[in-house]
Amino acid sequence: MKEDYYKILGLDKNASDSEIKKAYRKCAIKYHPDKNPGDKKAEEKFKEAAEAYEVLGNPEKRSKYDQFGHSAFQGGGFGSGGMDMEDIFSQFGDIFGSAFGGFGGFGGSGRSRTSKGTNLRIKVSLTIDEIANGTNKKIKVKRKVQAPGLEYSTCHVCNGTGQVTKITNTILGRMQSTSICDNCGGTGKIVTKKPPGSDANGQILVEETVDVKIPAGVEDGMQLRVSGKGNEPVSDGISGDLLILIDEREDPNLKREGNNLHYDLYISIPDAVLGSSKEIEVVGGKVRIKLEPGIQSGKILRLKNKGLKSLNGPTGDLLVHVNVWTPKTMNKEQKEFFENMRDEEHFKPNPDKNQKSFFDKVKDMFS
Ligand SMILES: [Zn+2]
Repeated sequence: MKEDYYKILGLDKNASDSEIKKAYRKCAIKYHPDKNPGDKKAEEKFKEAAEAYEVLGNPEKRSKYDQFGHSAFQGGGFGSGGMDMEDIFSQFGDIFGSAFGGFGGFGGSGRSRTSKGTNLRIKVSLTIDEIANGTNKKIKVKRKVQAPGLEYSTCHVCNGTGQVTKITNTILGRMQSTSICDNCGGTGKIVTKKPPGSDANGQILVEETVDVKIPAGVEDGMQLRVSGKGNEPVSDGISGDLLILIDEREDPNLKREGNNLHYDLYISIPDAVLGSSKEIEVVGGKVRIKLEPGIQSGKILRLKNKGLKSLNGPTGDLLVHVNVWTPKTMNKEQKEFFENMRDEEHFKPNPDKNQKSFFDKVKDMFS
């Protein structure tokens, strides 16, 4: 039988939100693994408190719990498997932040603050030609960097280690725990001279041009990473990354479908009847295609490997859709000519069995 969530936190049912938060904080500190290394019972209590707070600290979940009790959460997330310590710290870390110096290393596992700068994101629009052939782009980014003239001194609280070790005397003996230094935020340094115009961390924004090589075959929505071109870290460490989001521009003539390209070709009635040869502009240059006499409107000509290169896989095909253009106006003689052809046997539609219908063609294209 599960213990009542209110009881776990030592509250009654009318507790206010701030009382719940306070009670949880008290429990979390009391049973925190840093204070109770290796104590399985304390760890259980710590998890229980987190579970109780996850529900009671959320008005919606709390009212469900008040109505239905534990059965309201059965089978979902918490009730079934329980949370692990990582989850608890990532969800509720802020609550005991000041008591344990941020996500202080619990259980001696040495969680340390990341010394990587934050990432920057930028969208880059590419034409289908650029995607087909790959391209180099000069991208302007505004990065946070350390201001020139910024000075630091070693943090006197942690002596530059970024960590503090606390020794507590308890009835069980001396307990040692390590956590991130509050004074410097784990960097081991304190800003002593902040150049004018820089922010609280002594950083300024600078515009830089980054050369980015974009490989052939990228797709809309893809993200490329340029290491080290994001923001600089606040103190020592490595810069974040520049993330480039690919945005594919629509092309008026070519439609993309995976690595295949579709092209709509319009030909005249004489070209369809007599046959012809046409040059069309596609990615990577021009392609000459031959139209047999008597070609039908709707025919799809597949040109192998004339589509897009793929990042990892075969090159796509170019599919040319033939459309016969019917004139809307004609002079008297032209009209007469077609009038005469109206009853000509050869001009009457007579698709043979090999003539695939539109639906069969579509089926073929996707198989
Ligand atoms: Zn420090």
